[in-house]
Amino acid sequence: MPKSEQVEIAVIGAGPGGYAAAFRAADLGKKVVLIDRDSELGGVCLNRGCIPSKALLHISKVIGETSHLAKLGISYNDPTIDINRVREHKNGIVKKLNNGIAQMAEARKVKTIQGAASFLSNNLIQIKTGAESRTVEFDKCIIAAGSTSSMIPGVTKKHPSLLTSKTALELESIPERLLVVGGGVIGLELGQVYAALGAAVSVVEFLPNLIPEADTDLVKPLHQKLKKQFESILLSSKVSSIEPVKNSRLKVVIENKKGKTTDSYDKVLIAVGRKPNSHLLNLKVTDIETDEKGFIKVDMYQRTTTKNIFAIGDISGNPMLAHKATHEGKVAAEVASGQPSAMDVRAIPSVVYTDPEVAWAGLTETNAKKNKIEYEKGEFPWAASGRAIAIGARQGKTKLLFDPETKQILGIGIVGPSAGDIISEGVLAIEMGADSMDIGLSVHPHPTLGETIGLAAEAFEGTITDLYVPKK
Ligand code: NAD
Repeated sequence: MPKSEQVEIAVIGAGPGGYAAAFRAADLGKKVVLIDRDSELGGVCLNRGCIPSKALLHISKVIGETSHLAKLGISYNDPTIDINRVREHKNGIVKKLNNGIAQMAEARKVKTIQGAASFLSNNLIQIKTGAESRTVEFDKCIIAAGSTSSMIPGVTKKHPSLLTSKTALELESIPERLLVVGGGVIGLELGQVYAALGAAVSVVEFLPNLIPEADTDLVKPLHQKLKKQFESILLSSKVSSIEPVKNSRLKVVIENKKGKTTDSYDKVLIAVGRKPNSHLLNLKVTDIETDEKGFIKVDMYQRTTTKNIFAIGDISGNPMLAHKATHEGKVAAEVASGQPSAMDVRAIPSVVYTDPEVAWAGLTETNAKKNKIEYEKGEFPWAASGRAIAIGARQGKTKLLFDPETKQILGIGIVGPSAGDIISEGVLAIEMGADSMDIGLSVHPHPTLGETIGLAAEAFEGTITDLYVPKK
């Protein structure tokens, strides 16, 4: 007979959404189990995504900075890279955080179960751990089972030289030539890591711009830098076939309006988006509905179409971002525990952790034009910032979009080092309904990159003294 137990709240998936949900529910006094098929807690973000990639991006940024110092009269020899130590360093960071989550679960008396969960009914799940199986009966369930890398149609993951973000982050070796398919967030972050570690990196992007969802003026400084770091960047191009050839290499056919080209690479990283893991949960025995892309349908309380089951994070819709999952996880835990709560945010920031970083929140110009939303703009070019010039970041930019009537901030976009850190002021301003005067009249510390937000508001107000703007 399978083991069975009864809980108030079962959480499926221990990523940043799932463990936040489990811990919040436990803090609200509920008996909670947290289930994950991985042996380590933390999900994709901690084990195979956000955190290991940031550990490696830190290394690639420092390598880039030391070569920049040559222009300032300080030269180093080319780096000697011990890939085994780099990998150990990255794994050590992940392990430390895994342990931290396990300790926090224990302190809260959240029981963790390793195994693959799937539904048996609207109140029962089965958990399989190897050959063993057990069931958990729940009053409420929070699904936080995440997403998996998408593949190009007709290409299977099986070949050892074909990488996904997961295997690329394992950092087995540094290929001589790496092709990255997909010029989105993962492709550019990992492409930059591998380029810094010595690979000749090429990127193929289907659409006419890198990071298509971001405004082109924000992507431009990154594109210029990548042109120097990468072997090639092919836009408006697609990979039509990938075939194994000799020595574990891969032959790739790339098509664009100029025709077809064939080239071979040591490794190919597929970074063409991710798909929700809803197909792994046997949802057909529940009343949970999914949309045509496989996302679980939820309302603003994160409730699915089965009222006692909630879904959060990547599996419940875009954007697939850890901080969105965490926020939704807390909402679901609070609603499931009888608290008044809802997913009611005005902006979710996006950050591309390349060098330079690109960050945006709220309305983008691309979206405003597409949806015919009226806006006015205040911009501050970092070429006029003493701090940016001092750190070699004069290509950066901060821009704010305002409502033409109320002058309230609608959106913010930044490109430059630490863009992902300084954007939070813009997110707070959007949440608080701040207008251009609120932002421009807040005293910002000088000289900082953060003050460019105040200066962009001053540029909009016409009160700026750090730039000369001719009178209209
Ligand atoms: P993405 O959607 O950011 O980028 C995929 C890119 O691949 C797109 O630009 C798309 O046009 C292109 N593409 C699709 N099919 C193609 C083809 N056949 N040939 C060439 N190009 C093709 O997806 P991703 O980079 O795989 O990331 C997946 C998810 O993970 C995203 O939702 C992202 O937000 C999230 N993520 C976020 C971060 C971060 O916040 N820094 C980091 C990593 C991943």
